[in-house]
Amino acid sequence: MRMDPQELLSLCKRRGFLWPAYDIYGSVAGLYDYGPLGAALKNNIEDHWRRLYVQGEGFQEISCPIVAPEPVFKASGHVDAFSDMYVECTKCGETFRADHLAAGLHANPASLGEDELGKMLRESGVLCPECGGGLTAPKRFNLMFKTSIGAGRGKTAYLRPETAQGMFVNFSQVYRYGREKLPVGAVQIGRAFRNEISPRQGLIRLRELNMMEAELFVHPEDKSWPKFRDVRAEVVPLVPNKGPPSSVALEEAVKAGVIRNEVLAYFMWLTYKFALDIGLDPKRLRFRQHESTEMAHYASDCWDLEAEIGYGWTELVGVADRGCFDVKAHLDHSGADLTSFERYDEPREVEMEVVKPNFGALGPLFKDKSKLIAEALSKLPAEAAKDQDKVTVDVEGEALVVPSSCYEVSKRKEKVSGRKLVPHVIEPSYGVDRLLFSLLDHVYSKKDEYIVLRLKGLVAPIKVGVFPLMARDGLGEIATSIFDSLVKAGIAAYYDDSGSIGRRYARMDEIGTPCCVTVDYDTKSDGTVTVRDRDSAEQVRVKKEEVAEVVKALISGASFESLRSPQD
Ligand code: AMP
Repeated sequence: MRMDPQELLSLCKRRGFLWPAYDIYGSVAGLYDYGPLGAALKNNIEDHWRRLYVQGEGFQEISCPIVAPEPVFKASGHVDAFSDMYVECTKCGETFRADHLAAGLHANPASLGEDELGKMLRESGVLCPECGGGLTAPKRFNLMFKTSIGAGRGKTAYLRPETAQGMFVNFSQVYRYGREKLPVGAVQIGRAFRNEISPRQGLIRLRELNMMEAELFVHPEDKSWPKFRDVRAEVVPLVPNKGPPSSVALEEAVKAGVIRNEVLAYFMWLTYKFALDIGLDPKRLRFRQHESTEMAHYASDCWDLEAEIGYGWTELVGVADRGCFDVKAHLDHSGADLTSFERYDEPREVEMEVVKPNFGALGPLFKDKSKLIAEALSKLPAEAAKDQDKVTVDVEGEALVVPSSCYEVSKRKEKVSGRKLVPHVIEPSYGVDRLLFSLLDHVYSKKDEYIVLRLKGLVAPIKVGVFPLMARDGLGEIATSIFDSLVKAGIAAYYDDSGSIGRRYARMDEIGTPCCVTVDYDTKSDGTVTVRDRDSAEQVRVKKEEVAEVVKALISGASFESLRSPQD
């Protein structure tokens, strides 16, 4: 059964997971605060991701600025193409995503142009969903927040709409740090900004969001992956863009060409594993392959991990083979050498095209500058000069136009030790907020108004509640010392000595605390405490000195049953 997202949002607000940001000023759609429990849950999700990608797979974690000058996003294509279409109600002034209003009228309305989409909305009689008023024709709106760097006219800049560009522009640094070998990968966890047209779905469509992105730079002609061997028999639910949904072993999906290559398949598996590790429900997860009309033109394959939540099937993670597009775009725009070098086992003789200066023509034209111009010409890549009637070279800071009579592009045999390559990129891109909200949706359970969040110990914001049955008779002191020992062991614990014990358990169940420890009168005589399991509400007695160990075992996945001694 799908849950009502409003019910979940209201729990999140009441218990300190999420608050609408700037609430006292009327709040702003698409901006949320994480309260103490939300912030802890988010940290735990990010920490686990870091464990898988940085520790597990050896990606380099970097942290780049959020604000970037315009050329970065000109090169990436965001200035020209990172836009959605909106329509405005002529009566109430509300704005709406035009493609969202056309859902159900076309398989992929986002792929249509303004005119086509406008015609479809008009002919289908679509009106303002808020007040029934008429709608304007669709217009494009760039989703980046624009700003400027520096005083006066400053430099046009944008808040990053994804963390990825920071890694693409740093390819050379990442490559060098990785000892100049492919594959090499970088990750970033951080904020991104998208000025969404009408964010109305809680954490699903935010204007300031949190992303965890990995960029794996691979050899363009080698997308095999040694670790794929370990997971090839694993099955993930696939919804390919051709043919029926299938649950086949990854190896079969790669062999059949459903998933393009091993690297992509491996990172789809890692994404699926991550989703299960944090506690998403496998019955409500699937990988949907992008339609060819939906895929960016440069991407050769792209799969979204989707979860079924109260808002319907929702994209949480995109895993894409982006080809050489990103690095090549920055190489072309910046002129920086963002290539990797493939060293051959043996030097090879290759026929190369080179630019050869013609001294006979250079001398009369450029006099004493000819020698420097000749040097500059020999360094030019052949493609820059071939079939051109002139080239421009930089000589001591001066841009000089040299006619083609002063050089020729000719072939030469040379021994080379390797070749330069523009790497391809495999990108798993995770939306933290959507993962967090979908997780809460999947673990939410309610029986007769009693709410339990079945969060796994791995991600639960508080791992254990510690209660004295009564605050008097020395029970409080014992409970406090147990609490202190838990804190010392690095376990997020919560001490509570007020209200009935039932209410205290209920409060912990509602925020997903996996277990509670209660100190009672027996503790004074036999030194044991009860440990209560959230999901079964069962209890076992353990020695108070063993509490930290027991809680650690529970949060790392041990079953509650395993705590029982044979005589229990
Ligand atoms: P994209 O770069 O558009 O493929 O987005 C990567 C991931 O970021 C998606 O899979 C979502 O989980 C998340 N995401 C994208 N846009 C938003 C948004 N406006 N609010 C929250 N999460 C988003």
